[in-house]
Amino acid sequence: MPELPEVEITRRGIEPLLGEGLITGVVVRHRRLRWPVPRNLEATLKGARIGALRRRGKYLLFDCGKGTLIIHLGMSGSLRVVSAGDPVGAYDHFDLAVGKITIRLRDPRRFGAVLWCTRDPATHPLLAGLGVEPLSGAFTGGALHDALRGRRAAIKQALMDYRVVAGVGNIYANESLFRADIHPLTRAERLSAIRCERLAAAVRATLEDALAAGGSTLRDFVQSDGSPGYFQQHYFVYERAGQPCRICGRTVRRVVQGQRSTFYCPGCQH
Ligand SMILES: [Zn+2]
Repeated sequence: MPELPEVEITRRGIEPLLGEGLITGVVVRHRRLRWPVPRNLEATLKGARIGALRRRGKYLLFDCGKGTLIIHLGMSGSLRVVSAGDPVGAYDHFDLAVGKITIRLRDPRRFGAVLWCTRDPATHPLLAGLGVEPLSGAFTGGALHDALRGRRAAIKQALMDYRVVAGVGNIYANESLFRADIHPLTRAERLSAIRCERLAAAVRATLEDALAAGGSTLRDFVQSDGSPGYFQQHYFVYERAGQPCRICGRTVRRVVQGQRSTFYCPGCQH
């Protein structure tokens, strides 16, 4: 599943290629994504100019002045820059031609989204409830501490709650809690301000490391090589149940929280 770092690397890969941003063509091959692609999107977008490509959580926001094209990659989506003549695959549902490039959405499971918003996108129903942006300066220990107030859920689940922090998925929640030495089952509201400082720093460091790893594969996002392009990384605990902790040597454990796998080291995390 594309997580926040993949979405941010996608944004960084595409943005410098947009040039003047003039949209010269739109092809919708499959309208039934997570939500229907708007019927008149082709007419709406053609001739529009993309002024900026931003990101909020895992949503990509193409700012077109008169409105915003919102793209979400869902469970299996990728957005790539292809050549006009590249063959179209069965899962290539949406093309956006901008100047000399074509941006193509491939999404085998069709949980992604292509939407149009004429209001301030921050007020769009999908974005309005998003918590603080974890790579922004606003994501501090204090902000996290405030967001966790009154939350009785386990910190692992709170961290994955988009209302608390925008876009921290399962991999990064597991890895951040390990780096902060925090047991994933700790009740969220009980984390002290100092532990919240440590956790916010760990979330940021974990995401920054993923971005750095992704930066080296940036080219994959602007070439149509057919591979999903998700980053290979060196994890501390994620999917390492039964293996020795890289720090203390104790066996990494797995539990299930909210139907998602949680991995932690009983020696390092309290
Ligand atoms: Zn350990």
